[in-house]
Amino acid sequence: MTKNIAIDGPAGAGKSTIARRIAKEMGFIYVDTGALYRAVGLFMLNQQIDTKEAEKVSSLLKDIKVEIKFINHEQRVFLNDADVSEDIRKPEASMAASDVSAIPSVRDFLFGLQKDIARKNNVIMDGRDIGTVVLPNADLKIFLTASPENRAQRRYDELIAKGFEVQYDTLLEEIRQRDYNDSHREIAPLKQAEDAILVDTTGNELEQSVQILMDVIKENLI
Ligand code: C5P
Repeated sequence: MTKNIAIDGPAGAGKSTIARRIAKEMGFIYVDTGALYRAVGLFMLNQQIDTKEAEKVSSLLKDIKVEIKFINHEQRVFLNDADVSEDIRKPEASMAASDVSAIPSVRDFLFGLQKDIARKNNVIMDGRDIGTVVLPNADLKIFLTASPENRAQRRYDELIAKGFEVQYDTLLEEIRQRDYNDSHREIAPLKQAEDAILVDTTGNELEQSVQILMDVIKENLI
């Protein structure tokens, strides 16, 4: 039997950084499901498709192969055999991901891949609907959140460090927009599962949040 930990929450709450650290300590695989939606979004951007056009996006899914590979325990995402792990971090891929993720056929398209990885491995999987839809029977569910301002600041620091030219105000606006999109869509909206433990990381240093999550896992993972 494999162990599955689901971590959901809004953009920029620190899910990926924290989950990656914890997975390493526990010897679990860390799966970032947002990367899959980003890969689909990136494909559409590259094809100059309006990512809000559900029919068009759906009709092109047959041309896409999305795969996850673990290289040195790090997740890499492949889009039609090309490693797009860096490209999908472009700020424009975030909004494209948010748009395509509201399309039911896109969610169906990525569902099996996520289930399959969780069935075969001990995973910490992060996303928006992991505890509610993808792994409703996860051994432990955590809902990780922080204030929009705090999350925008973290994204800003992260992207600047990677050499992207970004504005704090633009990122804050984008985070608010994505929160709205993600929590108001009809299918698999972002929401805390009833049996998820809420952790708010507002104002925490990264190390504090890692420690809090480690404690929550130690106390609750049976
Ligand atoms: O986590 P990340 O910010 O990379 O996700 C990008 C977008 O993909 C999110 O804004 C959300 O719309 C979508 N997503 C989703 N379900 C998931 C993971 C991500 O809808 N499980």
